[in-house]
Amino acid sequence: MDHPVKAKLCRAWLERFARAADALDALGNESIPDEFARPSEVVYRNMREAMEILMWLVPPGTKETSGPFPSTEETLTNWVRQGALTLETAYAMKKELEQRPRGRPAETRLSTVAALDAKRTKKLKWKELPESFCDCGREHDEHCTNNLRSRVRELEKFLNELSSEEKS
Ligand SMILES: [Zn+2]
Repeated sequence: MDHPVKAKLCRAWLERFARAADALDALGNESIPDEFARPSEVVYRNMREAMEILMWLVPPGTKETSGPFPSTEETLTNWVRQGALTLETAYAMKKELEQRPRGRPAETRLSTVAALDAKRTKKLKWKELPESFCDCGREHDEHCTNNLRSRVRELEKFLNELSSEEKS
């Protein structure tokens, strides 16, 4: 496997997305006690986690479908069409889900995933990473290495959180 990290993120996304859809499905029409109610916490939590995972997989500002990943908007629109959510609930969810997540800007996240994949599969050393994965545009130095290392650490922490949730 050339991209074990990316593959793990994709699997985690699919799982959260499927759990949210299943939970919504299981609720049937009872999911909408009144039109402004939030959908169940399970739906909401899994959607939020799916969105957080997507931040590592899809370039920021991607509105249309990106590869296998539908955007939040598309997903919610589909659920409204299927009668699983009211338009009002979908709108409220979209607003909450699209609040800026904490952490580093999304632009650097895709290259961080690629860097960790390369580090693991090609057994690269930290100081070899900036060559391919730093976009400072200058001659790379130890700041680039340190910066990449801290980005990769942040990703590893996120991956560990995903794994521990899967076990619990
Ligand atoms: Zn650099």
